[in-house]
Amino acid sequence: MRWSLKVASVAGIEVRIHLSFLLFLAWIWFSYYQVAGLPGAVQGVLFILSLFACVLLHEFGHAFAARAFGIATPDITLLPIGGVARLTRIPDKPWQELVVAIAGPLVNVVIAAALIFVVHRSAELEQLQYLESPRVELLSKLASVNVMLVLFNLIPAFPMDGGRILRALLAMTLPYAQATQIAAWIGQGLAVVFGIFGLFGNPLLIFIAFFIFAGAQQEAAIARAKGSPRPAAKD
Ligand code: ZN
Repeated sequence: MRWSLKVASVAGIEVRIHLSFLLFLAWIWFSYYQVAGLPGAVQGVLFILSLFACVLLHEFGHAFAARAFGIATPDITLLPIGGVARLTRIPDKPWQELVVAIAGPLVNVVIAAALIFVVHRSAELEQLQYLESPRVELLSKLASVNVMLVLFNLIPAFPMDGGRILRALLAMTLPYAQATQIAAWIGQGLAVVFGIFGLFGNPLLIFIAFFIFAGAQQEAAIARAKGSPRPAAKD
């Protein structure tokens, strides 16, 4: 991906950070700094880095599941909107695509469960003080965002994992292109619903609606021109 820096290589997979992600971190730093000074800025950036560590592990979930089916992932790139694992090809069988798509959110389920366990243990051990512990506060916040990551990714619309899960389930009984088209329509229907809710409520939903709508169109176009490489498994 252009404008990205290689920061590590894990099990033969390059981990890259997009320059926009560095700008995003700088923005987080300054906005927290203005409200809560240096300690606030450090905590804010620490939280975002922990969150994106979870996003990275999610992408590795996809990559390792794909590897089990002989599909390589040359790189994973972190962007402010999430991570992108670039799979060299799409799995051949629908059940394989299902496994690859589920593997990502499953990682966040495991992380959330582990964090909830740790927070509860700390609460038992430290009793009242735990509410004032910034470490425990960070961990419980991280647990909630992992739950949100799971829910968001399971929205049955491209380019979210839920869209791929839906397509894989449909493709078990329908031809691949038709399964993709139906999944794309369902995704676009959801995008319209989000857009309408966004107009009357949270403007963030309008952004998500555009994102989903474009993802559905792209996915349908790829399925029509089958044989061309899959651009990315986006979340
Ligand atoms: Zn994913």
